[in-house]
Amino acid sequence: MADLRDLYQEVILEHARAPRNFRALDEPACMAEGFNPLCGDRCTVYVAMRGEVIEDLAFQGSGCAISRASASMMTQSLKGKTRSEADDLFHNFHRTVTGQDGNGDRPELGKLAVFAGVSGFPARVKCATLAWHTLQSALHEGREPITTE
Ligand code: ZN
Repeated sequence: MADLRDLYQEVILEHARAPRNFRALDEPACMAEGFNPLCGDRCTVYVAMRGEVIEDLAFQGSGCAISRASASMMTQSLKGKTRSEADDLFHNFHRTVTGQDGNGDRPELGKLAVFAGVSGFPARVKCATLAWHTLQSALHEGREPITTE
């Protein structure tokens, strides 16, 4: 049984207290809204693209510590990345938080690896992936509201 202390690591708590890139972006930016009814987390993700590169990335919303920290660290990790690099990182992040990697290290995740502890708490996986799913919607589908359900 996973220990709850493994989930709330200091870096997660710190980002939850003071989320980075917590703001809206002006036009022209793509945006999408996400909602996780299981926990009540809401987030709006804003993306400014230059060609295929994510030039700026920001979010707003309200939710639990895990959802806020995940959104905050996602914005930090993806700024300057291309759309396909963002897709790859989401894929790797998703495998890690859903425990599909066992104990395998994924160095490309960098700081995001702290969310591996979420895999011991299936109900929190949707908190950790909400911002990422919302970003996918912003990058690939336009403005439709999305839900984790
Ligand atoms: Zn949550």
